[in-house]
Amino acid sequence: MILIFLGPPGAGKGTQAKCIAKEFNIPHLSTGDILRFQLENNNEQTKQIKKNMDSGQLVTDEILNSIISNRICQKDCNNGFILDGYPRTINQAIFLEDQLKKNSLNIDYIFEISIEDTIVISRINNRAVIEKRVDDSDVTIKTRLFKYYEDTKPVSNFYQKKYGLIYKTIDGNQKIEELNSKLLKLLKKHWFWLIIIYLLLTSAL
Ligand code: AMP
Repeated sequence: MILIFLGPPGAGKGTQAKCIAKEFNIPHLSTGDILRFQLENNNEQTKQIKKNMDSGQLVTDEILNSIISNRICQKDCNNGFILDGYPRTINQAIFLEDQLKKNSLNIDYIFEISIEDTIVISRINNRAVIEKRVDDSDVTIKTRLFKYYEDTKPVSNFYQKKYGLIYKTIDGNQKIEELNSKLLKLLKKHWFWLIIIYLLLTSAL
């Protein structure tokens, strides 16, 4: 099962993706987490990545596309994966389309978590106290939201046009647990039908 989570920073993409990943035993690929992990190596490239991340700017498409093309080919992605924080630009979305096609993979659902900016800002402020992320500061939140509307919102429009039936806009203003149980219900139903179709196809051979 391949899922994509879209939405502004602080919308709850990671929380939802983590829980679904655990339930379906597929990896949760958060490009933010992958980049933060890479920062443990101190070299010229990671210095530049850190600078972009700390200021709320995006890291280059080239770096992100290379991370994703390597990651989705790994063995633990054989039964699917959940993308959280990627694609964030139209270039990345087009690159991903190409990668999926090359590997004969199909997206099952694209979830766009829609949420008011004021709620996003208050959630990120709360997270800043707990996780102490440099990019959760007041000024950086504004840059990250600006980059979201400028670069990532067009990705939502791109997917909505291309994949109307599997594109779901979900209300991120509701409680995390409430949203989570709705998503799990939808995905379990979807999973059930995938298994039935698979069984029918294999028994017909
Ligand atoms: P996140 O943890 O998803 O909020 O990402 C933290 C930061 O990592 C972002 O503000 C960007 O600087 C960088 N980043 C993560 N994913 C991407 C992406 N797909 N494209 C560009 N930059 C990214």
